[in-house]
Amino acid sequence: MNLEGKTFVIMGVANRRSIAWGAARALDQMGANLVFTILNERFRRELEKLLDDLEGNHDIVVECDVQDDEQIASAFEEIGAKTGGIDGLLHAIAYAGKDELQGGYSETSREGFKNALDISSYSLAIIAKNAKKIMNEGGSIVTMTYLGGERAMPNYNVMGIAKAALDASVRYLALDLGADGFRVNAVSAGPIRTLSSSAVGEFKSVMKEMEERSPLKRNVDQLEVGNTVAFLLSDLASGITGEVVHVDSGYHVMA
Ligand code: NAD
Repeated sequence: MNLEGKTFVIMGVANRRSIAWGAARALDQMGANLVFTILNERFRRELEKLLDDLEGNHDIVVECDVQDDEQIASAFEEIGAKTGGIDGLLHAIAYAGKDELQGGYSETSREGFKNALDISSYSLAIIAKNAKKIMNEGGSIVTMTYLGGERAMPNYNVMGIAKAALDASVRYLALDLGADGFRVNAVSAGPIRTLSSSAVGEFKSVMKEMEERSPLKRNVDQLEVGNTVAFLLSDLASGITGEVVHVDSGYHVMA
């Protein structure tokens, strides 16, 4: 797939294991220009080290904490001014406190619930609001979700509720932004070892179950997920919006 001349914003690279980094590598291999946002300055050095591995154009890194409305607005203004317009965006951002990701869901604190839903679900709406102002014709937004939003899974708890809200947000944003010809989709990845997933209780056993029970009998990696993100961001997916595409070795079809 050739994405030369296209510019995409990648939100959510924490380190080499991040799913967002898998997407960045996939898009880079296809010739796209990339712009990165980071949670705060602490992530800049790590990202700058990684950027050396990319071939293409990727010199814009902007701070954007999705809990800060003003920072989001100024980040997208800056990206718009520097790029002259973007063709799409990957939102690969989620957070829940470690305490909330073990034991029973009924133990979830009000504060933990608000925080998880704010960062992991609401953020897609405010990002879409700001991104659409600088999006070129045919622009596309992709977010990252997980099967724990469709089914009850041990320990995933409040993050499952956040993913269910995120999946619904994809459908409502698809309806809203569709009026401007923009698309909004989600990729539901199988379990992958990353900074975020390491906070989920008994995560190793979730990966083992994928290997044993999924139709493909293996786990997926960041690049496979990234390739599907790239497809949804590209014009090849021009007729797809409001969709959740599972990249999970087919695990979701199993009873
Ligand atoms: P990761 O820890 O590498 O990425 C999470 C990112 O969210 C980090 O870069 C972090 O800085 C960012 N973030 C957290 N709070 C933020 C805030 N307030 N503002 C801006 N950024 C913030 O982990 P990952 O597994 O690559 O997660 C990326 C996405 O993929 C998440 O939505 C996650 O739920 C989803 N996902 C992960 C898996 C998995 O097994 N790893 C499976 C399915 C879906």
